[in-house]
Amino acid sequence: MTITGGCHCGAIRYEVEGEALTHALCHCTDCRRCAGAPIVGWTMYRADALKVTKGAPKIYKSSKHGRRHFCPDCGTGLFYTNGEMLPGIIDIQSATYDDPDAVPARAQIQIAERIGWMAHAHELPAFERYPPMG
Ligand SMILES: [Zn+2]
Ligand SMILES: [Zn+2]
Repeated sequence: MTITGGCHCGAIRYEVEGEALTHALCHCTDCRRCAGAPIVGWTMYRADALKVTKGAPKIYKSSKHGRRHFCPDCGTGLFYTNGEMLPGIIDIQSATYDDPDAVPARAQIQIAERIGWMAHAHELPAFERYPPMG
């Protein structure tokens, strides 16, 4: 299976080949801060499965060994590597897939750092678009 994806503005495009090793929704503080979002989905692959086909991501050192790759033009977070904890592995922000349904999420991780109300997010009122105004 070949999956394609990219950042919001289109400056960065990538292809990834083969099966994801896993797909986890991460609740950690670093992911939250870096994404500006309560949760971030990551698919994990062998590093050689990923090919950046357009542009060059900028790399941010988000922890001692953690490296977050993002689009320098639009800021979309794309990849994560950690040569110490996960040598030879690359994580891809699965919401940047052209078809984000291609690989279903399999687990939630780092819930020790989860925002309290996220535990009940699936119970919130849900609207097809926006709720009625007024
Ligand atoms: Zn971009
Ligand atoms: Zn995380």
